[in-house]
Amino acid sequence: MKTTFLIVKKKTIITVLLCAIAICTFCGAYFPIKASATPKAVHTIVIDAGHGGKDGGAVGKKTQVTESWLNLQYTMTLKNVAEQFGYRVVLTREDMNGLYSPLATNKKRSEMEKREKIIKKANPDVVVSVHMNSFPSSAAHGSQVYYASGNQAGQMLADSVSGSLHKNIKNAKLTSKVGDFYVLNCTQSPAILVECGFLSNPEEEMLLQEQEYMQKFCYHLFCGILSFFSFE
Ligand SMILES: [Zn+2]
Repeated sequence: MKTTFLIVKKKTIITVLLCAIAICTFCGAYFPIKASATPKAVHTIVIDAGHGGKDGGAVGKKTQVTESWLNLQYTMTLKNVAEQFGYRVVLTREDMNGLYSPLATNKKRSEMEKREKIIKKANPDVVVSVHMNSFPSSAAHGSQVYYASGNQAGQMLADSVSGSLHKNIKNAKLTSKVGDFYVLNCTQSPAILVECGFLSNPEEEMLLQEQEYMQKFCYHLFCGILSFFSFE
């Protein structure tokens, strides 16, 4: 009787132990994220190449390079850098076609609304609009970063990018400026417009087209974005 009882007790203990092991194994196999770490957040960046289609933007006097083409080159370079850092990249335009509807009477309005639609759909963590500057005096030079008035995170992002560019790119302006641009005003996300340099300055017109400069510029622009997120 006593022996039978002991055997039954032993069996019960073994069964309970086996059940416990099975439950632990199941939890470990099916809920590994909860047990180990929270998944890494993926940041989404919208890169907006300014102009396009019939709107070529500024034109370089020496080489006749159009701003719309150069904006696209910088956009694609920045896209590559961002993707190497694991960012999800959404572009407003990927070719030389304009974003406006062919039937639109007000093409500028139609184009800006399309950019807004893409930005809103992407629900981005950051928006970067890429442009090239132009000024009547050929002496004007250097990159300039703009943000929308009242967008505090946008200002922080602008300051971070300005700082990174100023440290590493010749003539880049350290102080960010408020800019009244549709692409900045249409979103609550931290958004900046970067004028990469002046096509009206003959030296900068040539420099902006150099592959190595383009890579360096986009890399340091992106470093500014990274440091913005590290202080967030
Ligand atoms: Zn422009």
